[in-house]
Amino acid sequence: MDRYLCDVLVTMDGPAGGVPAPVTGGAVDVDDDGRITWCGPAADAPRLEPGTNVHRAGILMPSLINAHCHTPMVLLRGAGEGLPVDRWLHEVMWPRESKLTDDDVRAGMLLGAAEMLSNGITTSVEMYFAGQAMAEAVDQAGMRCLVTPGVIEDADFTLTGPWPEQLDEMVALRDRWSASDRIRAGIAAHAAYSVSKECLSAIAARAADTGMAVHIHLAEQQWEDAAVRERSGGLAAPEYLESLGLLEGDVIAAHGVWLTADDIEVLARNDTAVVHCPCSNAKHASGVAPVTQMRAAGLRVAIGTDGPASHHRLDLFEEMRTAIRTARIRSGDAQTLPPAEALRMTTAGAAEVLGWGDELGRLAPGCWADMMELSGSEPALNPVIDGEDDPLSRIVWSGSPGAVSGVWVAGRKVVDGDRVLTVDVAAAVADAQARARRLAR
Ligand SMILES: [Zn+2]
Repeated sequence: MDRYLCDVLVTMDGPAGGVPAPVTGGAVDVDDDGRITWCGPAADAPRLEPGTNVHRAGILMPSLINAHCHTPMVLLRGAGEGLPVDRWLHEVMWPRESKLTDDDVRAGMLLGAAEMLSNGITTSVEMYFAGQAMAEAVDQAGMRCLVTPGVIEDADFTLTGPWPEQLDEMVALRDRWSASDRIRAGIAAHAAYSVSKECLSAIAARAADTGMAVHIHLAEQQWEDAAVRERSGGLAAPEYLESLGLLEGDVIAAHGVWLTADDIEVLARNDTAVVHCPCSNAKHASGVAPVTQMRAAGLRVAIGTDGPASHHRLDLFEEMRTAIRTARIRSGDAQTLPPAEALRMTTAGAAEVLGWGDELGRLAPGCWADMMELSGSEPALNPVIDGEDDPLSRIVWSGSPGAVSGVWVAGRKVVDGDRVLTVDVAAAVADAQARARRLAR
């Protein structure tokens, strides 16, 4: 048993959609399996059992969830600067990715996992190839992941085999890792414009058979609408996917930049979750997603970094701030997307998007002790004025990876200060360097 005493406790454990006030002087008890058994004001904590290890922390809160990523693309980080997504994919990404080996994917995922852990991210949703290699790297890093290997059908992309085989492998991956508490597998299709109707229908059927989540890019760029309408006999992407039965199960749709009010209504009636990737959308000049409208329609919306080749950093602090800034620029209202709600979109709300809300994203009895500590002495998090301080606002506006001083996954410490305890980072950087240079040739 471990007890964590902290100056400020942020649980994010409120009623659906709500965020409770932080607790000054908190305690979190974690059992030997890594689950939280008690959480609240230290003054109310149960009597210490003999043998309990007591730890002290500054700000203790749920670690973050990156709800849309292609982490192994760290090997392509920085390539194709200044290109819109379609040219960036066809001219730079897909030619390089067609040379990827499973070992490349494993190496990229391992380095990216180390980066995410040190940035306070302990769970990610990954859409990439070589799912088994990805899962092995995640396992090695001690992280948590929803691994969703993706189908792309395009002449410029030659890495993967026929899609029926890929679908079989996605289900096999799920079965192979079924005993893991930290790794889940889903099914991914790159997008409605880059995957055939036949394949999308097969994915819908496979998801219905297995209950696996489906992960897909949706309405990221303005031109996609015409391409999808041409394939679908005139339907917009959400309606097209609905007509194929693809929105019936648990669906995680990334981006949602170019959604109309009608599109949002289609997603709302199917309870489709959306992942907002504001930094990637800004870097590629894709646009600003209608986050406020989606949330008002009742959609579950989380935040993702997208791949590190789309937006270089795997940093959800930066994403939260960019989400708020872009939403406020769009609305012209400084009350749009309060910091507490942005934080919910990377913690409890993100866990709900992943279908993992019963165990992740909150500090509450029964949840895994996936936590991070922010140092109370971090300059940007100070000064603190009693009676005026809003810790959630302070964390979102002033927090950064540099403030993260400890990270735990299921009670296991994986980051201590600036050191990742589960990955030899210097070796992972050197390995990624050599592989990235080969792919660039
Ligand atoms: Zn993406």
